[in-house]
Amino acid sequence: MSSNISSGIGGDQQGNDSASVDVEAMRKKYREERERRLRPSGNEQFPELVGPLARFQADPFVDPDFTRPPVEDEVDVLVVGGGLGGLLAGAELRKAGVKRIRIVERAGDFGGVWYWNRYPGAMCDVESYLYLPLLEETGYMPTEKYAHQPEIFAYLKLVGQTFDLYDDALFQTAITKLEWDDNRQKWLVHTDRNDRFAASHVVMASGQQVLPRLPGIAGIEKFTGHVFHTSRWDYGYTGGNASGDMRGLADKRVGIIGTGATALQCAPEVAESAQQLFIFQRTPSTVSPRNNHPTDPAWAASLRPGWQRERMTNFVSMALGKDVSEDLVDDGWTYAWKKLGKGLVDAPLGTTSSSEEAELLDMELISEIHARIDSIVEDRETAEALKPYYRFWCKRPGFHDGYLPMFNRPNVTLVDTHGQGVDAITPMGVIVDGQEFELDCIVFATGFDVGHGYLSAAGFDLIGRDGLSLSQQWDNGLRTFHGFYAAGMPNCYFMGATQAGTTANFVHTLWEQAEHIAYVVNRVAESSATSVETTIEAVEEWQEVIHGNPNPELLKFWQDCTPGYFTSEGNVDNPKGILADRYPQGALAYCDLLREWREEGSLRGLIVK
Ligand code: NDP
Repeated sequence: MSSNISSGIGGDQQGNDSASVDVEAMRKKYREERERRLRPSGNEQFPELVGPLARFQADPFVDPDFTRPPVEDEVDVLVVGGGLGGLLAGAELRKAGVKRIRIVERAGDFGGVWYWNRYPGAMCDVESYLYLPLLEETGYMPTEKYAHQPEIFAYLKLVGQTFDLYDDALFQTAITKLEWDDNRQKWLVHTDRNDRFAASHVVMASGQQVLPRLPGIAGIEKFTGHVFHTSRWDYGYTGGNASGDMRGLADKRVGIIGTGATALQCAPEVAESAQQLFIFQRTPSTVSPRNNHPTDPAWAASLRPGWQRERMTNFVSMALGKDVSEDLVDDGWTYAWKKLGKGLVDAPLGTTSSSEEAELLDMELISEIHARIDSIVEDRETAEALKPYYRFWCKRPGFHDGYLPMFNRPNVTLVDTHGQGVDAITPMGVIVDGQEFELDCIVFATGFDVGHGYLSAAGFDLIGRDGLSLSQQWDNGLRTFHGFYAAGMPNCYFMGATQAGTTANFVHTLWEQAEHIAYVVNRVAESSATSVETTIEAVEEWQEVIHGNPNPELLKFWQDCTPGYFTSEGNVDNPKGILADRYPQGALAYCDLLREWREEGSLRGLIVK
């Protein structure tokens, strides 16, 4: 089977002649590339950040000698985590009239991933008019379609100020334990700064891609040059700031290990500053056009109240292949959704299917991406090495306009490891295929720990009613009702991908969850009750919704994917993996279900007493 396609990857894409897809040849190539990358160690290939590697987690953006007296008081709501989820929870609880809201955050400020990821070139990959929540409430308009990290970080601090979340917040503080006290009907909170306070309710917004992940490379601790992870960018060494201008690299040979969404954004900035840049690639990303541009003031002035929610719904509807009257966002994401819209099954980022028709459309999209590489990258060998061979949604897609042209610079070398990864790290540099690359600096753009379970990212356990721990309950995977409540954990609400419906704009789900939690907390406050808790039956019912009807097409799709964090590195069945616990109908249906539940008004599935 073959098809003729014409190139166009959405928006102002690179024009290209039509190309033809040889389906059988592509299938074979996909299989071969996948096999090359599979490792029996799966998720366990990545080392634990202990011993000499523990320093990669340290926060370089704070005063390490910071101290404060321990806190001993009571608050209405404890929010664990001050990223997008925690801030949304704080904002919606504040809107609902909750007085004492305490956000506890490991980092030195609000911002979550936007606090940590200050690497040069960092910007949101989902349009900022959708990704930055509460724009109508704060009266803020992002300056660009895809805002850069300094603006996003500043905006999230503005959200904290607007909703008065700073006064009670505790930064540079990690929760060590939460214990439910049945006598007081409150959670007792323990932290690593010896705080002991009580909270009537707990919102768990501790995030998903939190802990930096290092590559499993022999000798990783032996390198004697400078080394850091992208989420702890060392501007003290590189000079410059998130906009680049890293003069400290002018005489340096820099190696970036990893070619995911982060590397796509930071490598072009490093290339501008470094004497030499080597990019060590295991699997190429799909790189589609970005087309960023400043916000048009006339467009911003034309927006009518309710515009942000409408735009968000439009975006997620397209992700699910639904008909919309207009593609409001019109970018690389929506282009892919339109192209692959005949897919049937909701994968984390868009619909897909293992049907032949869907497979063919997917191959056409990948071929467009290949054609774009050929049209930009001058060196043929480099261009070939940059071509991804897997289904589009197998990995998080990338969007950038500077990454591919960067390989035409004389100071940039792609070191393709043919799916094997870097062989070893030595005191002087990096070895690939027997060749040593001497380096002054190694940057690990190797992502975040995913797939070791919810509590591994949170970093502490919850002890609920009758001494039952959450770690016991969730040992074999999550068990919630509606994604929020665990049995025996009164007044505790989970946010994020905990058996919820998610989409490429993760904020869509977080915001709905925040409103939902504020509603429930308010309902408890309005009654004379002191606790709200899920029934076991409601949890069982939700397990049926989440796991009761596994879709063989989706399973096959993932089994055929090249390994990555979506598939727990090829271990699709990992019960703690990102795929294991998703609401199968997607974010829109999930949000509708929650809204209908609220409208029905009986708090079905919950015991309030
Ligand atoms: P990823 O996990 O996506 O990528 C890690 C990279 O490291 C991959 O290229 C991986 O290769 C490579 N790698 C791992 N081990 C080795 C090894 N031994 N040798 C060589 N290479 C290795 O991390 P990112 O930080 O790029 O992105 C993580 C997530 O963060 C994204 O998926 C996205 O959700 C989010 N993000 C969002 C952004 C935004 O909205 N602006 C921007 C950046 C990130 P392989 O593929 O073979 O495993």
